[in-house]
This record gives sequence, C-alpha cells and structure tokens, in this order.
Amino acid sequence: MAERILITGGTGYIGSHTAVVLSQLGHDIVLYDNLSNSSDAILDVLQEITGKPIPFVKGDIRDTDLVIHTLKSHNIDAIIHFAGLKAVGESVEKPLDYFANNIQGAISLLKALQTQSINTFIFSSSATVYGEPQYLPFDEEHPTNALTPYGRSKKHVEEILKDLASSNPALRISCLRYFNPVGAHESGLIGENPKGKPNNIMPFIAQVAIGDREELCVFGDDYPTSDGTGVRDYIHVMDLAEGHASSLAFLENNTGWHAFNLGSGTGFSVLELIHAFEEEANCTIPYRIIGRRAGDIAEYYSNPDKAAKLLGWKTKRNLNEMCSSTWQFQKKLN
Ligand code: NAD
Ligand code: UDP
Repeated sequence: MAERILITGGTGYIGSHTAVVLSQLGHDIVLYDNLSNSSDAILDVLQEITGKPIPFVKGDIRDTDLVIHTLKSHNIDAIIHFAGLKAVGESVEKPLDYFANNIQGAISLLKALQTQSINTFIFSSSATVYGEPQYLPFDEEHPTNALTPYGRSKKHVEEILKDLASSNPALRISCLRYFNPVGAHESGLIGENPKGKPNNIMPFIAQVAIGDREELCVFGDDYPTSDGTGVRDYIHVMDLAEGHASSLAFLENNTGWHAFNLGSGTGFSVLELIHAFEEEANCTIPYRIIGRRAGDIAEYYSNPDKAAKLLGWKTKRNLNEMCSSTWQFQKKLN
C-alpha cells in the first residue's frame, strides 16, 4: 500500500537514494532538509531519475512548527529520519552541536509526529552504537558502548525511541544500524559528494582516482586483520535504500521498537577495497601507509540474519559494483 512519507535529510546522500527507491515503488514522498550538508540542485536530478517532481521543504527538524505544518499539509503517514550531523571526528570537537542536532532534533521531530498521531518512524542509526567488538559478527544483541559523541547521539536516540514505543503501543519504530554505506545510483547522477576533504575512505579513493588528490593515506597496517589494514562491512547505498522499503513493509504488520543491522555480513580490508576500485576504474591508486587514526576499531562487520529473516532483505550488490558505481558518479561530477 502506497504511503505518504516524510524523508528528513532527504537531499543528503542516503536520503536521496532512498527517495528514488520509494518513489519508484509508488510512495508519495516529501523531502525535508535544512541544506546544511546538501544542495537543492539534487531535486532536478531526482526528477530526471524518477520522472516526477518530488516536493521539498527547506527547514530544520528543530523547527517543530514547520514540521507540524509539513506533516499536516502533505497528510504524512510515516517518517524516515536521516537528518543529522555525521562526522565522527567533528563530534569529538563539538559534542554539543551533535547532541543539539541529533538528539534535540529527534525529540523535536517526535513531538511534531505525536501531534499528528503518526505511528510509523524509521531512524538512521549506525553500527557505531556497538563500540569495541566483544565478539564478531555484531548481532543486534551485542551491547551498545558507542565510543564517540556521534555514536552516543545515535545510541541515545535509539533509547528515546524505545521508551516512546513502551509508552504508546500503537507506535511502529525501526532503528536501522547501517554499516559502511558506499556507492551510487546506477545512473551515476547521484552519489556521495562530500563538502571539503572526505572523512570516509570511498569518496577519498574516488578523488585520488580522478586526480583531484595525490594519494590515499592508509590509516595503519599493523592491525590484527588479514593484511594489517582496517576491515569494514561496506554496503551499496542502493541496497541500503531498499532496506528502508523493506523496513516500511515490515512496520505495516508490526508494532513496537525494532533494531536491525543493515550490512552485507562480510568484511573487506582497506587494501582489498583499493584493489577492487583499481580493477573497476582501470587505474592505480597511489597510497601511503601512515599511523592509525585515533579511535579506529581494527575490524567489524554485521550479522545480517535478523534483517534477512524479518525484513526479507539482504544485500545484492558486491564490492566491485560498489566501486564501479562510485567511479561512474565521480566521472560525471568532474
Ligand atoms: P548527509 O549529510 O549526506 O545527509 C544528512 C542530511 O541531513 C543533509 O542533507 C543535511 O543537510 C541534513 N540535516 C542535517 N541536520 C539537519 C537539521 N537539523 N534539520 C534538517 N536537515 C538537516 O548524510 P548521509 O550519509 O546521507 O547520512 C544520513 C543519516 O544516516 C545520518 O543520520 C547519518 O548519521 C546516518 N548514517 C550515515 C552513515 C554513513 O556512513 N553515511 C553511516 C551510518 C549512519
Ligand atoms: N581509512 C583509511 N584512509 C582514509 C579513510 C579511512 O585508511 O583516508 C580507513 C579507516 O581507518 C577504516 C576504513 O578505511 O579502517 C573505513 O573508514 P571510514 O572513515 O570510511 O569509515 P569508518 O571507519 O567510520 O567505519
């Protein structure tokens, strides 16, 4: 059944890909974003991909009145909440900004949602809620000991949502714990385009490949992993976007609070990622090993069984497709 869905952070990286998937499934969607880390130029591109205009409201999630007005005027029945700040290092420098935006922002949004008796809410959480692995792969029962203000902002919002679901049995809430989203839409028209120097590895590799940056710095090769470099569970952003559609379908039949890992279940090292990219872009990525990045975990990856069982969702796209779609997007950008 088609629903009317508000996507906060909808002009951002993951929100825009999810908008495409949901629009193509026949949902009516409205994007809501303050454009602090994205641009409204993407609206024309989304129209080009989906063949229809997508309504957009420029606003902050902390502007409760504007959110309420938006929910009412578009007759919204579900919210997917992507909006937030996401740079781990910056969160250590500016914890209050992260708590104000991510926690206060979520509370403000939830207050607006309550005024309209909207029951369905999907939250962009993160594998960073787990912290240092006590065992691997991470399943959803692994203790949550987030190590940074960013990770703790996700953990706190998850807990707020859990308390809210206990207070109101009509609520239907999913916290989706993303592993490492990378890649781009198959059109090459939308993808990850960070402002300034990328924090994450995939856009950095793409910028080296295109010649915008000289070399990649590999943060450590002395971890207890297969080749000494860090291991992560990379997930294609289109698989991730489809996970939101599966989660919406799940919430149609399930009340309460639910957490799901969205990952592939397989870890790849930094060197494996570099080599996969080199193969897809038919180039050499110059890199230099430097010291470990403060706060990095050696290795983690998901157990995606719960999402497979309850959402009927698993990843379909492999590491090479993640690299080739990133490369197609990077070439179109330049
Ligand atoms: P993004 O920065 O591309 O998108 C977030 C969007 O939210 C941006 O368009 C930004 O302008 C908007 N925004 C920020 N604060 C806002 C506010 N107060 N009001 C309205 N809009 C606001 O990031 P993304 O990679 O698409 O991430 C989306 C969500 O997924 C975030 O919550 C992030 O923490 C989470 N997440 C991302 C990753 C990742 O590696 N990309 C991993 C795990 C979780
Ligand atoms: N990484 C790297 N060089 C970079 C950026 C990241 O070697 O310029 C490594 C990092 O140490 C980690 C992996 O790549 O092992 C993924 O890092 P990213 O920042 O993309 O994601 P996160 O560590 O936040 O999961």
